[in-house]
Amino acid sequence: MNTSKSSELFAEAQKHIPGGVNSPVRAFRSVGRDPLYIASAKGSKIYDVDGNEFIDYIGSWGPMIHGHANERIINAIKDAAENSTSFGASSEKEIVLAQLVKKFVPAIEMIRMVNSGTEATMSAMRLARGFTGREKIIKFEGCYHGHGDSFLSKAGSGVATLGLPDSPGVTRSTAADTLNAKFNDIASVEVLIEQHPGSIAAVFIEPVAGNMGCVMAGKAFLQKLRDLCTAEGIVLIFDEVMSGFRVARGGAQELYGINADLTTFGKIIGGGLPVGAYGGRRDIMQLIAPSGPVYQAGTLSGNPLAMTAGIETLLAIDEDPDFYRTLGDACEYLYDGFRSNLADLKLDYTLNTCGSMFTLFFSSEAVTDRQIRGLFQPHARKRHLPSALAVRGMFCINRPHEGRCG
Ligand SMILES: *Cc1c(COP(=O)(O)O)cnc(C)c1O
Repeated sequence: MNTSKSSELFAEAQKHIPGGVNSPVRAFRSVGRDPLYIASAKGSKIYDVDGNEFIDYIGSWGPMIHGHANERIINAIKDAAENSTSFGASSEKEIVLAQLVKKFVPAIEMIRMVNSGTEATMSAMRLARGFTGREKIIKFEGCYHGHGDSFLSKAGSGVATLGLPDSPGVTRSTAADTLNAKFNDIASVEVLIEQHPGSIAAVFIEPVAGNMGCVMAGKAFLQKLRDLCTAEGIVLIFDEVMSGFRVARGGAQELYGINADLTTFGKIIGGGLPVGAYGGRRDIMQLIAPSGPVYQAGTLSGNPLAMTAGIETLLAIDEDPDFYRTLGDACEYLYDGFRSNLADLKLDYTLNTCGSMFTLFFSSEAVTDRQIRGLFQPHARKRHLPSALAVRGMFCINRPHEGRCG
């Protein structure tokens, strides 16, 4: 495969942009090769600047649920652009997208648009703190909630310790306000709540985790988490930036039949344009400025082009009652192929799937959290798999070892 133009661009980019990229996973480090520079994409195919064609398994990390350059979405964006790209003032489309999200996810009583998933989780955290008057939050190891300082906290050694900074630049005091629990382990949450009585504002969770590979929360675990949060007055926040409109029409909360108090969105909600959102219970959401005292704002929030892309993306789902069945069937066909090829090759594997989200783990052990020793080691053969697949025309990724996305 000739990727010389990509390599030239990457060499040039590294002179101007840290690491040559505007978001770390794009550097393809975990894949063990230089990044490909993309020229265009259409439907399920993506094309690099050297003219190589790939089947795109990344889909811009989620937003491209209708495939690339979907005509309906592109035409609507073009039409909207004719009326200017930003007003810095209210426009009707903000209401339309809010109504659509509420229709898809019944637990959303009110919603606020922002510009990224990171902004959504940071704002939801401030809101939960404002609502409860408490300062600490709990998150789960292996879940990703964007690059806000509070989420770049890792567990200290020993059980139930305060969080430590997971990146230079994050202060110890900020990291310490984040407590790290173990995914699918309710006891680890109970211990933290016992140790910090009356001081936990929120629990953040990816109910279907994507960022440590596809790992589903167990239903009993998620229900216990819901009950625990209700009993303790803790705001339960589902980070559905990836799972929202993806694993089901109403996201993970529809799949499990369990509602969050607040939900964060990103990725699909913007149809490929920069949109994030957070929403949920009216009594909590009404605390946001200007209806309440919790400050949060955005020059480009509710941007008309971004709203248009989000609206058309959700409408295209809404108008097809079989949308998720068709998507699921297509994915099952793919998974069956994996299963039969891997069986032929006599390789140990675990294939975790949830609708169109999937991760292939090279171990026969069930993967239910990120504590799967060994699997995150960049073993040479596994590390180079995405690179080997690229040569065979597939654009895909290795899970970042840190359980970080972006
Ligand atoms: C992608 C992602 C984020 C961050 O969203 P950005 O738009 O990249 O800031 C947060 N949470 C989850 C679950 C994500 O998958």
